[in-house]
Amino acid sequence: MNFSTRMAQALDARRAADGWRLRRLVTRNDTRTLEVDGKMYRHFSSNDYLGLSQHPAVRAGWHQGAPGAGASGHVTGYSRCHAELETALASWLGYSRALLFISGFAANQAVVHLLAQKHDRLIADRLAHASLLDAASHMPATLRRFLHNDAASLTQRLMMPCDGATLVITEGVFSMDGDSAPLAAIAAATRHAGGWLMVDDAHGIGVTGEQGRGSCWQQGIKPELLVITFGKAFGVSGAALLCDDATADYFLQFSRHLIYSTAMPPAQASALLAALHEVQRGDALRQRLRANIQRFRAGAAALPWKLMPSESAIQPLIVGENGTALALSQRLAQAGCWVSAIRPPTVPPGTARLRITLTAAHQAEDIDHLLEALHDAAG
Ligand SMILES: *Cc1c(COP(=O)(O)O)cnc(C)c1O
Repeated sequence: MNFSTRMAQALDARRAADGWRLRRLVTRNDTRTLEVDGKMYRHFSSNDYLGLSQHPAVRAGWHQGAPGAGASGHVTGYSRCHAELETALASWLGYSRALLFISGFAANQAVVHLLAQKHDRLIADRLAHASLLDAASHMPATLRRFLHNDAASLTQRLMMPCDGATLVITEGVFSMDGDSAPLAAIAAATRHAGGWLMVDDAHGIGVTGEQGRGSCWQQGIKPELLVITFGKAFGVSGAALLCDDATADYFLQFSRHLIYSTAMPPAQASALLAALHEVQRGDALRQRLRANIQRFRAGAAALPWKLMPSESAIQPLIVGENGTALALSQRLAQAGCWVSAIRPPTVPPGTARLRITLTAAHQAEDIDHLLEALHDAAG
């Protein structure tokens, strides 16, 4: 089979399964509202949970740095903004070091690529993000999955013998379900087995825990490897790995993702320093977000779709079939609400869903409008 035949077959199969992914041209986006094809919507698909992408200080920060680093951090791309950001992140989260990556996807790939060698094993939550599982499934190490948020299932996997090192992987707040991992139990089981824990807290950082320090801080654990990303509550883009000195040195010496890739633009690091400051003093924003979440959950309890056990900004409604999720998403769009339908393979087969995300930028009337549209669609 050649590439053309293979592509044609895969595209046909995707169309037939109602799985076609459509990119829409967004012409305006202020986190609360969205303009698509000249029409305005209330926006319930943004990960900009605190609305910081709109913050004047973050925008001003962007203009204080150069647009390009010019080289990898190992050559001449490591500037004062990068150093300040790394130091500030490490001290904020109680780690000795932070290393910046261009994206959360890259950071996760880097960790898995560098650590998972032959004879090692990775044990990941079944619902862990594609960036973790994709990397893991291409490595010589063994990949095992444990039942979602189930520390007993993890313990069972850990009891199986392994000659090499063990890395346990979970998210803090799950990106498609919005629920939180039982981190204390997972950390205890991992430590008991002599393994290392990696937590990807893309959706917890900035939103939960004192000063927005995230899921691990909130649950009183300190994993060996903590990945945080800046494309969500920080309102910008990029990621960082928090770790100890020896681990940071090992990554700087051996991680191809750091050595052979241009460093984050200084402008971005500078914007992130401003965003970090806003996250740290963002209790009022977190309070507004929490109020919006509570308002939504109270109003959605009577809907026919199952609400997830989620206290987070991610409030999915599981509808099941792809076609149903798409139709519902279209129905909401007609009512002026933009809510993305999420389908397999992003989520398990038969669990297509509306992934509603709430932010501090929403007003009570936005939430009420969405609830009304959902009740109309259900009735
Ligand atoms: C968004 C996300 C990523 C990827 O981060 P990017 O910076 O967007 O590449 C990784 N892990 C999880 C859990 C995410 O939700």
